[in-house]
Amino acid sequence: MTQSFKKVHAITGMKDVLPDSSAQWQQLEHTVRQWLASYGYRNMRTPILEHTRLFTRGIGEVTDIVEKEMYSFTDALNNEHLTMRPEFTAGIVRAAIENNILYDRPQRVYSLGPVFRHEKPQRGRYRQFHQIDVEALGFAGPDVDAELILMLARLWKILGLKDIRLELNSLGQAAERAAHRDALIAYLEQHRDVLDEEALRRMYTNPLRVLDTKNPAMQEMANNAPRLFDFLGEESLAHFDGVRRRLDDAGIQYTLNPRLVRGLDYYNLTVFEWVTDQLGAQGTVCGGGRYDGLIELLGGKSAPAVGFAIGVERLLDLCSQSGPSVAAAECQVYMIHQSDEAQRAAVGLAEQLRDAGLAVIVHAGSSGFKSQFKRADASGAAVAVILGGDELAAGTASIKWLRADALEGQAQQEAIPQDRLVTELKQRV
Ligand code: ATP
Ligand code: MG
Repeated sequence: MTQSFKKVHAITGMKDVLPDSSAQWQQLEHTVRQWLASYGYRNMRTPILEHTRLFTRGIGEVTDIVEKEMYSFTDALNNEHLTMRPEFTAGIVRAAIENNILYDRPQRVYSLGPVFRHEKPQRGRYRQFHQIDVEALGFAGPDVDAELILMLARLWKILGLKDIRLELNSLGQAAERAAHRDALIAYLEQHRDVLDEEALRRMYTNPLRVLDTKNPAMQEMANNAPRLFDFLGEESLAHFDGVRRRLDDAGIQYTLNPRLVRGLDYYNLTVFEWVTDQLGAQGTVCGGGRYDGLIELLGGKSAPAVGFAIGVERLLDLCSQSGPSVAAAECQVYMIHQSDEAQRAAVGLAEQLRDAGLAVIVHAGSSGFKSQFKRADASGAAVAVILGGDELAAGTASIKWLRADALEGQAQQEAIPQDRLVTELKQRV
């Protein structure tokens, strides 16, 4: 007796992309790679696993990600503390330092792929999700901050997205944040009674993050708190001004959001988010900013940098609202046959069609014409090629157009000499 096997399910919050929806992913990836190349950004790939201390150091101990969202474990084979990347930036910076790629020039780079955060799964929030991560390493000026934002505006245009808006802020420099921090802690101490548990825990370690709260009971307190913006000095203001002027030049609208602080510790000066109302509670599609201190913090020679990350699942959700996506066809030509001999002839013809650049499926196994036609229809192919006994005897193949849009005035079914098949289909499919 065989023991029944308990079905294994995917891990909570980790999704499969099935063949009928992968076309949408592939198309987006294709568009994104072309878009990035058009601004001179080159692909970079780093490992999914890194040493845990890269993230605790790079992202900051008192952040949502490091405090409660990382998939970390000890490698039992050598006792190393490892973490599945919760974001790309720290890994990219580690790799840039380690391989010395900033030695003679700045670098524009990007990565696409999965990242992992142990969060409560809901629409737009998963435990494995994907990011398009873009980093400009070694650039100091506001021109590159603006370039990144301009790029994003172009991507939304390419994708036909309209309901997406830009929020902008400046976090200034460390000394400015320190002065503001003192004022903020004094303010929080005065408003202890409205702070929730998390806020009380963070008010001395990361008071800025207290203002980033989603707790409705704390909104008024947060709205009236001392603003970092009011503590910015001349240089920080000039940088911010440089970004804003370039956005104005390009006609890009934005809202100044003094409460925008972002969830990671390493940001300074410009920070931004692109937000939509079309995705329910998880409306932030892209977040980014400048992180001039990170490269040095992670052991490199001090160099400025700026970047952003787009959440792919949220972006695809948004794209699919402007129109249903169509599943990709399995092939262009579906070959139907009736005997062992015909099947073998079909294999040869299919190879010739593939040489001519067509995507071809030869029906697998033997079944009646009717069920083979059903499969051909379901495959999404434009045309079926039929090799029956009559065709074999006559050295022909019959073709039958399967979809109205592929038909366009062509005879629905006709016989073609086998040696003309490739030429005919190449022209007509
Ligand atoms: P949120 O405030 O929504 O948690 P975040 O500030 O943690 O976002 P970032 O670290 O800036 O997010 O990541 C960049 C982008 O990745 C976000 O703007 C969002 O689109 C996407 N993202 C973040 N967390 C998730 C998640 N758990 N599932 C799906 N997408 C996510
Ligand atoms: Mg988060």
